[in-house]
Amino acid sequence: MTDARPSFITRFAPSPTGRLHKGHAYSAMLAYRRALAAGGRFILRIEDIDTTRCRDEYVTGIYEDLAWLGLQWEQPVRRQSEHFGDYQAALNTLNEKGFVYPCFCTRKDIAAEVARAPSAPHGPDGPVYPGTCRHKSLKKRQELMASGMAFAWRLDLGRALAHIGGAPAWQDELKGTIKGDPESLGDVVLARKDTPTSYHLAVVLDDARQGISHIIRGEDLFHATHIHVVLQRLMNLPMPIYHHHGLLLDENGQRFAKRNLSVTLAEIRASGMSPETLAASLLRA
Ligand code: GLU
Repeated sequence: MTDARPSFITRFAPSPTGRLHKGHAYSAMLAYRRALAAGGRFILRIEDIDTTRCRDEYVTGIYEDLAWLGLQWEQPVRRQSEHFGDYQAALNTLNEKGFVYPCFCTRKDIAAEVARAPSAPHGPDGPVYPGTCRHKSLKKRQELMASGMAFAWRLDLGRALAHIGGAPAWQDELKGTIKGDPESLGDVVLARKDTPTSYHLAVVLDDARQGISHIIRGEDLFHATHIHVVLQRLMNLPMPIYHHHGLLLDENGQRFAKRNLSVTLAEIRASGMSPETLAASLLRA
């Protein structure tokens, strides 16, 4: 029997917290072209778990900008905000197995703890969480949760690694075999009291649910992959092949980002530039 499913399935997964900029266009086009060349599938996923920062008008903007670029994607588009139940179920399973714990530390608490132990490990995202709440008794955890205090669910990385037999290595198409280094991120947040998922948990679950074989995304997420592959092993999900591309830089050598008022695709379109000219300039860069 032949398997009719394409073996190349990739995705572009923006968060609708602002208009897309050139960096997004580059990433989306790379993924799209790879899918076309491989006779595979291209999926658009809207990563809108942060309901305070994500807006519908930006979702509409994403559709407009990608259509202008000439991309086509499958329907229906998965919007993460419509699937909180799935993430909650996965979180519950991780909790039942003892792989997450509630953390009641505020940012200030963490900063103070890190200041007390200046030799504490620092990763690419800043100081690694010192594990303060990992040591709390079950009784104490239950008391604090019952008190109504805010908390986050953190991955117990040590227990996770012991269970899966150490940090998994993973494949990056540009950099080859990557030795796992999840300790550089440590006990990351997987959910919060009122939001049953963080980026890490939702992205891993959705990539598996959508059968993503190749993840093409910016280098800014390279380190996050160390945690993603741990979560995949922990939840018995397949591990995709990764491709972390370099980030586009603007004229001042700064990476494009929503926060530093990069030129948006909407503005580029309004200036009269054609999508073909933009695509040619980006893919040459
Ligand atoms: N939603 C993420 C972002 O906008 C990207 C997720 C991913 O490609 O893994 O930065």
